[in-house]
Amino acid sequence: MMTTETVVDLKNLTPSALVDFLAGMGKEKFRADQVLRWVYQRGIADFSAMTDLAKSFREDLARRAIISDFTQETVEISADGTRKFLFRLDDGRSVETVLIPMEGGRNTLCISTQVGCAMQCSFCLTGTFGLERNLTTSEIVNQVCAVRRDYPVDNIVLMGMGEPLHNLDNVIDALQILYAPAGFDYGPRKVTLSTSGLVPQMSELGRRIKVNLAVSLNATTDQVRDQLMPINRRYPLQELMRACREFPLAPRQRITFEYILIRGVNDSPADAKRLVRLLHGIKAKVNLIPFNEHAGSSCQAPDEQAMRAFQTYLLDRNIVAIRRAGKGQDISAACGQLKGKLEQKL
Ligand code: SAH
Ligand code: SF4
Repeated sequence: MMTTETVVDLKNLTPSALVDFLAGMGKEKFRADQVLRWVYQRGIADFSAMTDLAKSFREDLARRAIISDFTQETVEISADGTRKFLFRLDDGRSVETVLIPMEGGRNTLCISTQVGCAMQCSFCLTGTFGLERNLTTSEIVNQVCAVRRDYPVDNIVLMGMGEPLHNLDNVIDALQILYAPAGFDYGPRKVTLSTSGLVPQMSELGRRIKVNLAVSLNATTDQVRDQLMPINRRYPLQELMRACREFPLAPRQRITFEYILIRGVNDSPADAKRLVRLLHGIKAKVNLIPFNEHAGSSCQAPDEQAMRAFQTYLLDRNIVAIRRAGKGQDISAACGQLKGKLEQKL
């Protein structure tokens, strides 16, 4: 009998770690691609089904490794087609993943990187849970595996529960798995990582891997941002914007700035004006998101007229500003809200 410490979850291994792992079993490099195809392209979790590998190799793998998988706990479907999945983790905790149909028939999958979040943004329900723990690499990747079994997934956003840059190593490993040509083969331009603005980790991310960057900005003064997003007290706007200016971008690539409009807090014409100034010299686009009201916060959605004026001000100054519809409102698809609802019921 092998002891449990020696059993590896293959979904925790990056493609190069998989090559090393198989080399330790005396296998050639190309075997890693064969295994990646079984695990990710064909969704096989049973080594005995991997028929292009020698039987003795399969048996050896089954002794040394497992292939973890998620079973679905709950799905909620919104009138607009947004689907929200809740997955139960081995330790009984749960994590949520949201599939959002986009224009043109493409699907974007919003995945989580932590259970809860330590950042405590005042408008965000996930923030109120506090950080329970980081997700492992396999738990990040398994959200994609589980949804892809039933639905095509064209784009991935790391915008669910948690702060991805607070779990940087596992997130980078997960991206490497998602990018593997013999696996899911997502191009880095298909994947977007959203951060509340952990400045040193933003630079590290840019050095270590290619990914689209989104920054949850949500305010145009330190005074307001300090209140909404406590991380701003550590990395104020000036430092955050400097990190954005220095983030490596491919030609035609932009940083997305997410801006949740909250009535009377950050939705004034003066805010729109300050936002234009903040974005000066940055290849940016802005997503304007109406605040999604929930029991965990006293913030309110903006009125229609304020939203329109805000967007028009940006567009008139040649800033790409897209209104996000606030999808899946009837199933509380905004971050943390399904988990919040379910745990109230328990
Ligand atoms: N922690 C990272 C990753 C995504 S957080 C970040 O903050 O960027 C979850 C996303 O849900 C963020 O984009 C956040 O702005 C958004 N969000 C949280 N609460 C919301 C609410 N009540 N209404 C609308 N969007 C909300
Ligand atoms: Fe965490 Fe992002 Fe929510 Fe802030 S907005 S509490 S960083 S998940």
